Amino acid sequence: MSREFCQTCESLKEFYWLKLNQFLIAAGSSSAWPPPLHVAGEEELLVLKNESLDALRELMRHAKACYGLTIDDVTVDDAA
Ligand SMILES: [Zn+2]
Repeated sequence: MSREFCQTCESLKEFYWLKLNQFLIAAGSSSAWPPPLHVAGEEELLVLKNESLDALRELMRHAKACYGLTIDDVTVDDAA
């Protein structure tokens, strides 16, 4: 039974990239020419930044559990 593809991993990855792109576009928009119709304020940038960080954290948390389950037989259990 192969678990090479995980739908949750893919979804979380996509979500993270989406949020990151939103942040990058918003962050770069202040110097863009012609100026965009909507210029993101600092508060808005902070929200987007936090959202992308949250998405990354969520992805990491899932990935750990996900890979932990996948590589069951390669147990690196050197805890005291
Ligand atoms: Zn997964």
